[in-house]
Amino acid sequence: MEADKRCIVIGGGIAGAACARALADRGWHVKVLDTAPEPCAAASGVPLGVVSCHASPDDNLLSQLTRAGMQYTLAFARKHLIEGQDWSPTGVLERRLADTDHPKKPWQEPTAESVWFSHVQLAKAEQLSAAGLNSDNSQDLWQPQGAWIKPLALVRALLSHDNIQFLGLHEVESMQKSPATGEWQLRIKHHISIPSMGSSHTYTSETAPHIVLATGAQTPDFLNQVLYEPHMGLHPISGQVSWGLHTHVHEPLPPFAVNGHGSFVAHVPTANGKAWYSGATFERNNASTMHSVQAHAHNQQRLTQLLPQAAQALHAQWSSNSELHAWVGVRCASVNRLPKVGPLDEKRLAGVHMLSALGSRGLTTALLCAEYVADQIEGRPLTASEALSKAMQCDLENA
Ligand SMILES: Cc1cc2nc3c(=O)[nH]c(=O)nc-3n(C[C@H](O)[C@H](O)[C@H](O)COP(=O)(O)OP(=O)(O)OC[C@H]3O[C@@H](n4cnc5c(N)ncnc54)[C@H](O)[C@@H]3O)c2cc1C
Repeated sequence: MEADKRCIVIGGGIAGAACARALADRGWHVKVLDTAPEPCAAASGVPLGVVSCHASPDDNLLSQLTRAGMQYTLAFARKHLIEGQDWSPTGVLERRLADTDHPKKPWQEPTAESVWFSHVQLAKAEQLSAAGLNSDNSQDLWQPQGAWIKPLALVRALLSHDNIQFLGLHEVESMQKSPATGEWQLRIKHHISIPSMGSSHTYTSETAPHIVLATGAQTPDFLNQVLYEPHMGLHPISGQVSWGLHTHVHEPLPPFAVNGHGSFVAHVPTANGKAWYSGATFERNNASTMHSVQAHAHNQQRLTQLLPQAAQALHAQWSSNSELHAWVGVRCASVNRLPKVGPLDEKRLAGVHMLSALGSRGLTTALLCAEYVADQIEGRPLTASEALSKAMQCDLENA
């Protein structure tokens, strides 16, 4: 008998869009539901992100995942996005600022046999100089394959597939398995906006044998309130990006993305001219989406350490209410800092999968993790190592 290849994905951010695409490319028919009218309404609405790997001399699990993940994201970008407009493979300079509390292990220049070869090198004098830095005793790193990317363009391209239907204003309120069909039935609050009368809602339902939860920072609430399950230690981390246009900036800004103490990216084309982005703040257990002057000040102070010349060049703009802009979003993170990927509970919740807790690196890892989710839904073995698969498991029992 032909397999029933219908799936509903709850959440229209990068996690949901990537899962939908991974399944649609394998012949599945996928509905993506989101409370918001359009995709990228929450964390994935960050105006710009950096795609790079987490460099660790001992090549920990996050390094392995991000190194493989960025290959997926960049391969998709090369094929479906406009280079220079939606993304740019500028390379990423990763600053390793001295931290007396947590001294960093020295980085050895990788040999051809090293997993880091072609991924991470010691930064050269010309790269440091282009960022306004000097090369004395520098332990800064250069990621030649690193890039910046616009998440909205990425998500739109992922959703652009004949087998994917995006349904905005569809908030999933409850779900249960039909004893008759064995399918999941979702009760959906369909928000409606009526001109001059405000907003209202009706209720609809959708059914499918397979469900993927891709609900970002709302995942703990969804687990608790919809599935009556523990939240697996998932927690919110609020972040504010400070950004502005290049309009009154006369000093040169780095021609590539810079990471390491917050991040900084300039020369990004927008409808209003070139823009720069700095941040983001990192407020654990905070789910606020309110922007604040304190967060702007924090981003400015960190930029002063990350890139003193760029901070100096932007000093006047940072003091201007009209020229400094903010964007705030909430990441979802897990205790071990790795995404949560796969089935929730194959007995009690058969057919329900999850891709969440993408933390601060969702743009880098979501497309690869979505392939893992699709493999698991299709009953295929994961291509990830056993250690990584185990660390990413959705462990409701031991939460
Ligand atoms: C400030 C900031 C900067 C970042 N910078 C980078 C970066 O430089 N590089 C990088 O790789 N990553 C970065 N990230 C991380 C990345 O943006 C996130 O990991 C990623 O966007 C999370 O995607 P998601 O799809 O899991 O969640 P979200 O984008 O939050 O999407 C979840 C969606 O689920 C919907 N939803 C929730 N509950 C329901 C429900 N009951 N019914 C229907 N819909 C529902 C929500 O409306 C939302 O649209 C950054 C994040 C932030 C906040």
